Amino acid sequence: MADNPQHAWQGRTIAVHGGARRSQYGEMAEAIYLTQGFAYPDAESAEARFVKSGPDEFIYARYGNPTVAAFEDRIAAIEGTEAAFATASGMAAVSGALTALCRSGDRIVASRALFGSCLYVLEDVLARFGVDVVFVDGTDLEQWRAALAPGARLVFLESVSNPTLEVIDLAAVCDLAHAAGATVIVDNAFATPVFSQAVAQGADIVVYSATKHIDGQGRCLGGVICGKRDVVRGPIEAYMKHTGGAMSPFNAWVLLNGLTTLDLRVKAQAASAQQIAEALEPHPAVSQVLFPGLPSHPQHDLARRVMAGPGTVVTFDLAGGKEAAFRFMNALQVVLISNNLGDARTIATHPATTTHQRLPADQKVRLGITPGLIRLSVGLEDPQDLLNDLTRALNAI
Ligand SMILES: *Cc1c(COP(=O)(O)O)cnc(C)c1O
Repeated sequence: MADNPQHAWQGRTIAVHGGARRSQYGEMAEAIYLTQGFAYPDAESAEARFVKSGPDEFIYARYGNPTVAAFEDRIAAIEGTEAAFATASGMAAVSGALTALCRSGDRIVASRALFGSCLYVLEDVLARFGVDVVFVDGTDLEQWRAALAPGARLVFLESVSNPTLEVIDLAAVCDLAHAAGATVIVDNAFATPVFSQAVAQGADIVVYSATKHIDGQGRCLGGVICGKRDVVRGPIEAYMKHTGGAMSPFNAWVLLNGLTTLDLRVKAQAASAQQIAEALEPHPAVSQVLFPGLPSHPQHDLARRVMAGPGTVVTFDLAGGKEAAFRFMNALQVVLISNNLGDARTIATHPATTTHQRLPADQKVRLGITPGLIRLSVGLEDPQDLLNDLTRALNAI
């Protein structure tokens, strides 16, 4: 754990006060330091800062900025890591963490059920630079064991996968990875900082798309890389600050305020998601519901052990395939058709024709992305209105 005294606070206290910096005006809401640069009192100070900047000494917003630092400190304290580096988007965090920590000739073992852009970075970008990437079924520990036997530099996985919500036994994978000498990077977007214990389970680096639940209101792109100080302020900061994936101070301010209500929002969304999953399961038009909070979920017991809540996304398959899925979506009146998640607005996504459209057919089958599959990101509306809307749209099929 870190030397930050705020880490002793409980999560909701950190979420309100963590990382706050007040100027001489004592402003209540955090200030937005919308500045790319900083003036030095004299030439000696400029020289000294370039030799080594102290805490809260900034040089250039691509390297760091007071509003961005407040966001980084707050999320690091929530996550329980020594440090965090904020990035322009979730993908800047994923690609930055992976690229900063490997080199040509290294091996990466990754779970196959990944967000499309994460797959692109691993399969297309890193492979082009001579990194050997091996994919496994993330829920099969024997596959991890076999793939890690020859050793690896990095392990990359989504703790809860998109869109089929497989839950990975992170502690077991971390044990295997560490025995193989690998650093574990976890993309924790679906699990959220509220429900996940990724660091306690052994993850070395946790990355988030802050665009999702951390904003939670569909306004800003952002991402963050959390981990030990020597890694985050070492190779990750060096890579990020020279390649340009910095978070804007304005987005940092929005996301800082997103963190204030994160716990309340995510828990309310998860409670509605649980109700919706239970209501959808017996419906005749629904052939399967995938939700870690249902006893029918293949990793239900694991999810209960390792996650403090079931998540805010419910995925379900409609027996009538694509035609039924489109009819269902077109009949929705409250739920919006889009592709974000973690938003206050409930969102229905048809992965096969949108987020996962480009995957070859055999990969879709392998990942369970069927023509009738709907991913529902449950928002903050009254759950009864959502249930009415969903039931009416299902009956319209
Ligand atoms: C959305 C998402 C990302 C990418 O985040 P952006 O902020 O859109 O760049 C990465 N991983 C997962 C699991 C996501 O859901």
